[in-house]
Amino acid sequence: MNYDTDNIFAKILRGDIPAFKVYEDDYSLAFMDIMPQAEGHTLVIPKFEAETLLDIPAEHLIHTMTTVQKVISALKSTLGVEGVIMMQLNGQAAGQTVPHLHFHLIPTHLSQLQRHGAEQGDMAKIKALSEKIRAVL
Ligand code: 5GP
Repeated sequence: MNYDTDNIFAKILRGDIPAFKVYEDDYSLAFMDIMPQAEGHTLVIPKFEAETLLDIPAEHLIHTMTTVQKVISALKSTLGVEGVIMMQLNGQAAGQTVPHLHFHLIPTHLSQLQRHGAEQGDMAKIKALSEKIRAVL
């Protein structure tokens, strides 16, 4: 694997560029997607430098998935939704655009999903939502 340390999520992890963070621990970080496919679209990433699901050791994956569980729960209680989509793309051939492993958590029904990475959301709304989600995590 040839991990690109200049990818946008590596920069967010280093603090080189800002993000609306909702949760962080030693292994993982969760933050809002700025081109949401539904209101509340959140990303969970491992701190480990992995491009796809095939590149992460089990210990890091387990901790990252525990964060995924916490965030799904927070999205359900904050947004009052019953269902949350989890999506994860491996490789450009699958449509992955940022080469750092990430789990999309999208609180909507599959039929309501907006286009992937299509347009920037309302940043004030995303920020306000991130504060609500962070408050329960
Ligand atoms: P992928 O296509 O790799 O599965 O998903 C990448 C996701 O990252 C997309 O949903 C896109 O909206 C999101 N994204 C791209 N650039 C940025 C950014 O600078 N900040 C945040 N928070 N999300 C981003």
